[in-house]
Amino acid sequence: MPSGPPTAGRQRTHLVVAGVLAIALALTFTLLLTSSLDQGARATTSAVGLLLTGLLATSSSAVRARWSTGGRRRAWRLLALAGLVAISGNVLGAALDSGPALGLPFAPSDVAIALALMTSIASLTYFTQVTRSRVDLAVMALDGLILGSAVLMIAATVVYDQLKADVGADEVLSRVVIPLLDVVLATVALILLRRTRGPDRFALGLVAAGFIVYTMTDLGYAVRQAEDGTFAFGTPLDLGWMVGYLLLALAAWWPTGTREVPREEGVAGAEDWDTAVVFGVLLVAVMVEVTGEGGEGLFSIEAALWLFLIGGAGLRQGLIARDNRHLRRNLEDDVRERTADLRQMGRETEVLLSSVADGIYGVDTEGRVTFVNPSGATMLGYAVEDLTGRPAHELFHAPAEDGIPFPAADCYIAEAVRERVVSNGEEDLYVRADGGTFPVEITASPLVDTETGEVRGGVVVFRDVTQRREVDRMKNEFLSVVSHELRTPLTSIRGSLGLLAGGVLGELPEPAGAMVNRALMSSERLTRMINDILDLERIESGSLALEVLPHDVDDLLAIADREMAGLAASREVRLVRTAGCPARVLADHDRIVQSLTNLIGNAVKFSDPGSVVELGAVQDGDSIVMRVRDHGRGIPADRMESIFDRFEQVDSSDIRQQGGSGLGLAICRGIVERHGGRVWLESELGVGTTASLSLQAAPAASHAGDAATA
Ligand code: ADP
Repeated sequence: MPSGPPTAGRQRTHLVVAGVLAIALALTFTLLLTSSLDQGARATTSAVGLLLTGLLATSSSAVRARWSTGGRRRAWRLLALAGLVAISGNVLGAALDSGPALGLPFAPSDVAIALALMTSIASLTYFTQVTRSRVDLAVMALDGLILGSAVLMIAATVVYDQLKADVGADEVLSRVVIPLLDVVLATVALILLRRTRGPDRFALGLVAAGFIVYTMTDLGYAVRQAEDGTFAFGTPLDLGWMVGYLLLALAAWWPTGTREVPREEGVAGAEDWDTAVVFGVLLVAVMVEVTGEGGEGLFSIEAALWLFLIGGAGLRQGLIARDNRHLRRNLEDDVRERTADLRQMGRETEVLLSSVADGIYGVDTEGRVTFVNPSGATMLGYAVEDLTGRPAHELFHAPAEDGIPFPAADCYIAEAVRERVVSNGEEDLYVRADGGTFPVEITASPLVDTETGEVRGGVVVFRDVTQRREVDRMKNEFLSVVSHELRTPLTSIRGSLGLLAGGVLGELPEPAGAMVNRALMSSERLTRMINDILDLERIESGSLALEVLPHDVDDLLAIADREMAGLAASREVRLVRTAGCPARVLADHDRIVQSLTNLIGNAVKFSDPGSVVELGAVQDGDSIVMRVRDHGRGIPADRMESIFDRFEQVDSSDIRQQGGSGLGLAICRGIVERHGGRVWLESELGVGTTASLSLQAAPAASHAGDAATA
């Protein structure tokens, strides 16, 4: 189990102890190896020194691995492993006196060292705070390889030509592979060091320094080996390996920072510099190579071509890398900006959704809830997460009044998703988690993907209208009670006024007569209004009894015509009957006459004196359509439907000028709809209005006796 790092104070103490130990060891072995000890004793000293320093580096790395976490932990573990493998290699080398032995193709010590170097390279790739892609790691390794080869090339030309001379199969490891791996390792360490910021930098710097010292020593070893093939342990060169190990040990004891290093602090992909270094070294290598071969090479055509080749390739690569970096930086900035915008938008939407009092939920194309706002969930008695993912219709859309589940396919959610229909102001009954129901008014709209134009689901906004319904009910009840209570005294007032006006108590003086007449008219208007209110209440509560029988259409029109003749005459409007309709219609006589007289009354009231109101009827299939057409002021298109609501008038002055109450059309529609019929208006401003009332035609052979009662 990893144990956390010790306190900063203890870490400092550890570093001091390790530092003192490292210096002591380095000094001791420097003294011993430069002393006049004989070769055998010096070789033994070397072996002991390598073992001690190697063990110190290995155990230090292992301890550091225990303190660390994540990638760093893996890096230090691999370094400890590499240390172990390398010590074994060194010990073997010292013991077997390098060279093929035991009949193996390669010296086991060389194999061990090569393995240790590879493990170290692998460990370095975990060292970085910047998460690297595989390609990035591969590029880094290739950089190392190119640099390694270039350095070897330089070394081969400048220092030891033997490298290029025939290398025996058994020497490939020690003379080519190991030096190459050494340079790769040192290069990768340097590249990483350059890209690393923060607390890791010092530790990584020591690691890099350790590897560089180690590499130089290995190169020295390779040179000696190549020169005369008589390398022996026990020379000051061995100090290089020891110092390499000691630097690694110190790196392991370097205090860890407690600060978390933000990713941005690492320098990801500093391609410009890397490219410049890689190609610079390559260029130097080529120059050395070309000039080294022939004395006159510097200005030879071959030399120039090589220089152009490498220089041009390097420049091209550099430019591409630079361009890429700019591109990436711009893209990153862009993405960062957009992400911030999106987050902000998301937060605003969330605040919006959670602060509205109405319930809002979204569904996918299958009708499953994708989101619901807190008010919505509370109204339904669920937690937000309990609703998400569940089918909205099945879960809380109440069945119809007869108890039969309402088909999901006909639900407004399905319609919104399937047919992109927006349902506005529809009423529904929702079921709460506890089984109780409550009336809601909903608006359902499809959720359309603005880019593809596809429907991705739907959004439903719902409002609990329990209270509104209750207020409506109380208002209606109040109106009906008041109306009932008013009707009796009003009847008596009207009766008394009628008697007075009729001269029962003698002829009234002129001003008194006029006053009584005005009072009589007002009380009659009041009575009409009260009757209207009571009618409406009856219609809405469903208690309006209808006696539906077949009646001649023409008769109905004639009666209505007669009833309204007085009003028409007083307004100088002519009522004209157009072509008759010999059919019969199924209707409650009085109620349909009442509806017709209301439509005719409106037509007369809103016509100019001298104009004509036409009454007519036509048969349309199974229906009879009765029409009242005027040439009056007309009705604005946006009011055509709303004036069917109670107390609604086009102009609030209508109530004064025309003496209406705004209840006529509401009653008319109520009556006709109770018949299963329809009433509607068509109008053009300044041209006139046609009111149509359609009812079911009575079968041709039917008689008064076979009528149905609704
Ligand atoms: P009332 O006539 O008692 O006011 P209605 O419900 O019958 O109530 O009519 C509502 C309103 O519709 C009227 O006040 C008027 O503004 C308008 N309206 C109805 N019929 C016509 C018509 N034929 N021409 C113009 N406006 C009309």
